[in-house]
Amino acid sequence: MSAWEKNIRKVIPYVPGEQPKDKNIIKLNTNENPYDPSPRVMAKQLELEALRKYPDPAVSDLVNALADYHGVSNSQVFVGVGSDDVIAMSFMTFFHGDKPILFPDITYSFYDVWAELFGISYNQVAVDDNFELKLEDYYQPNGGIIFPNPNAPTSIAKPISFIEDVVKHNTDVVVIVDEAYVDFGCESALSLVDKYDNVLVVRTYSKSRSMAGLRIGYAIGNEKLIRYLNDVKYSFNSYTMNYPSIVLGVESLADEDYFRETIAKVMETRDWFTEEIRKIGFRCPDSSTNFVFVTHEKLQAKDIYEQAKANKIIVRYFAKPRIDNYLRITIGTREEMETFLTFLKKLVSNA
Ligand code: PMP
Repeated sequence: MSAWEKNIRKVIPYVPGEQPKDKNIIKLNTNENPYDPSPRVMAKQLELEALRKYPDPAVSDLVNALADYHGVSNSQVFVGVGSDDVIAMSFMTFFHGDKPILFPDITYSFYDVWAELFGISYNQVAVDDNFELKLEDYYQPNGGIIFPNPNAPTSIAKPISFIEDVVKHNTDVVVIVDEAYVDFGCESALSLVDKYDNVLVVRTYSKSRSMAGLRIGYAIGNEKLIRYLNDVKYSFNSYTMNYPSIVLGVESLADEDYFRETIAKVMETRDWFTEEIRKIGFRCPDSSTNFVFVTHEKLQAKDIYEQAKANKIIVRYFAKPRIDNYLRITIGTREEMETFLTFLKKLVSNA
């Protein structure tokens, strides 16, 4: 070890899913949308000479468009470089108390990485044997709460009554609801934002808007929360959103029909695929997301993952306690899922 290494911050990073270059791979591993972004987004002419200048630090065009879209005031909207950026900023801003923050033990595996990075103490609350969040667990003293709804990688949604109960029992801290997958059939907590000043709802363009490549995420909450969040953002990086993201982010919101159409297609394929894999010995919770979380009665998840990969189909496998015999399978096009199903049927019949 070099002498200078003793002064280095050492962390265990989050490991993102693979992004292979091979176009022939069926990619069901990072919960991207299999359909293109809206034709309006694809046809939009960018004025690339604008790249000479810094972008608008307040991201006003996109903030205003999002405020209009969701029927809130523009002082209630914060935009960031994917919801990862929005959530990281929120950890820095809102989780600054003495008590540990709470999040489920089976959840988005970036939460504990950020908590470690920012030196925030945390308590990972065990979900039950059916991967359900238990309400009473969120009644204990804490320094803040975050969970996705629907949860990931379990795909399970909680009703708004559950979220409101958590918020009501925790008015002394900020409760963050990560709604990365909410558009695929889950009730949003947005209606709570005007009722409670301690709820922050986080959304992303990466899944339902087919725009993971642009990196757009946002948060909606009470204007005081948004002001605190902006103070931290401006203390870190003023120019988070680049010009193409701002322009194309606005454009996407203008095409509601396409948005609804692609979501409906993903949900239809998901429900068909769920039914089919249950017929061949897989178990999975009913999904409210664009992925399914599956385990098989006879086959080992890791073997399925490896054999699928050898056949140019990639899904997500987590070598983690409680879920190391599960796979998270992103819903692709109907054709991709038919190919995968044929592969799975062969695997099961050879077992
Ligand atoms: N939250 C959850 C629960 C996720 O699964 C993801 C996707 N990895 C994100 C947030 C971050 O998504 P993005 O940064 O692309 O908006």
